[in-house]
Amino acid sequence: MKLTFYGVRGSVPTPGPEYVRYGGNTACVHIELDDGTDIILDAGTGIRTLGKKLIQKENDIHLLLTHNHWDHIQGFPFFAPIYQPDRNIFITPGQTTPDQPNAILEQMNGSYFPVNYRDLPANINIQPVADSTSSWSLNSATISRNKMNHPGNGSAFVIEADNAKVAYITDNELYPPYKKATDFLEWVDFAKDADLIIHDAQYMLSDMPKKSGWGHSIAEEAVKLAMACRAKRLALYSHDEVRTDSEIESLEHHCQEVIEIGQMDLQLFAAAEGICIEF
Ligand SMILES: [Zn+2]
Repeated sequence: MKLTFYGVRGSVPTPGPEYVRYGGNTACVHIELDDGTDIILDAGTGIRTLGKKLIQKENDIHLLLTHNHWDHIQGFPFFAPIYQPDRNIFITPGQTTPDQPNAILEQMNGSYFPVNYRDLPANINIQPVADSTSSWSLNSATISRNKMNHPGNGSAFVIEADNAKVAYITDNELYPPYKKATDFLEWVDFAKDADLIIHDAQYMLSDMPKKSGWGHSIAEEAVKLAMACRAKRLALYSHDEVRTDSEIESLEHHCQEVIEIGQMDLQLFAAAEGICIEF
């Protein structure tokens, strides 16, 4: 399994010289399984660059969407494979409230974008998974999901394949002031012993209490989850739109100190565009 970050930013793309090191594109992660299967997590603006690579292939593409907030679907109209005749693209929408499985296509209705999704030459299949289903097979991988604590909810995913386990948990508030969809201990069970946890770390303690309830976690909370899971690696993800490269670097160092104090064997890094991990 090979995993590459294409977009790591939350809320809105952040171009500019202060955002070069970690990148300004919104959520998108690519997983290529050893059997060649391509799985994409979210379709933020990072998917545009990934599309340039995947257009050179002809295999099926599997896109797992957490939810339909703009920063998770806005790159889709610029994803080159949707313009490839007969390219098969399978989309699993997130468990959102309201339930809008076609939202990613409906942004291409002629009003927000000039090309209508009905005119796309690729074979795009929206494949909702029954709400009662928490785990299913995708070629050689097993996919599991849990509901996010986030305004409008959505799904977090665990991908297990090639003797590796990756948890993708973004836009998740571990300790929300509203009723939780998933409790901390349920998250621990979900991501237990993961080789990599990619978790929302959009906020710092200083953002609270103002941003409590906005649907994202404080970075230290993500560290606590990864330690409780005994995960091998943690990627701080969904960097705040205001967080500059130097601020993300400081946050990364601070979280590393927390791990050292706990004497945990956990590797931590702040996700950046282009980071590639092979399992
Ligand atoms: Zn969101």
